[in-house]
Amino acid sequence: MSPAFQVSCSAGRSLFEAGKFHAAHDAFEDGWRVCRGDEKRVLQVLVLWAAALHHHENGRGGGARRLLARALERLGPVDETFDGLDAESLKTCVIETWGQLEAGEHPTPRWPDAIRPGPARVALEHDARCPYCAEPVQVSLPMEELDGADSVEDCPSCGRQWALKVRRDGADVLVSAHRLE
Ligand SMILES: [Zn+2]
Repeated sequence: MSPAFQVSCSAGRSLFEAGKFHAAHDAFEDGWRVCRGDEKRVLQVLVLWAAALHHHENGRGGGARRLLARALERLGPVDETFDGLDAESLKTCVIETWGQLEAGEHPTPRWPDAIRPGPARVALEHDARCPYCAEPVQVSLPMEELDGADSVEDCPSCGRQWALKVRRDGADVLVSAHRLE
């Protein structure tokens, strides 16, 4: 799973579960813009699902059902074994919302069990290198420390210390290593 997918999924999930569907839609869309392949398709399904619930809340039931139909269409090609995510579980939850809207019931969307924000630690992909010997820097951080983490690390290659900074920029995560003065 890419960091962008995890960041977007995790941020969107909190908003979705709080019933803030419009904001959740935006968070999923941030990830959708930068992710690829199955990650992009799953995020698009989440974008459409959140948008449908937002439409429903605003009394646009027809639009909501059209968006759900598109969400299910997009989910078709997603590999079921995709990176630990269970596409079937997501489909079940979206169909459940569809059924509730069709029956004129108030939707009670639940987050698919199999879709979690990802493992507790995230291995970041980036281009940062040791400022002394140019050894590529490996970064693995707890999910909740992705934004604003500062630490001092020993270079595994030359043994000198650098200051490591991690910043979030939308769905991107920026990593840099600086010399300690
Ligand atoms: Zn080094």
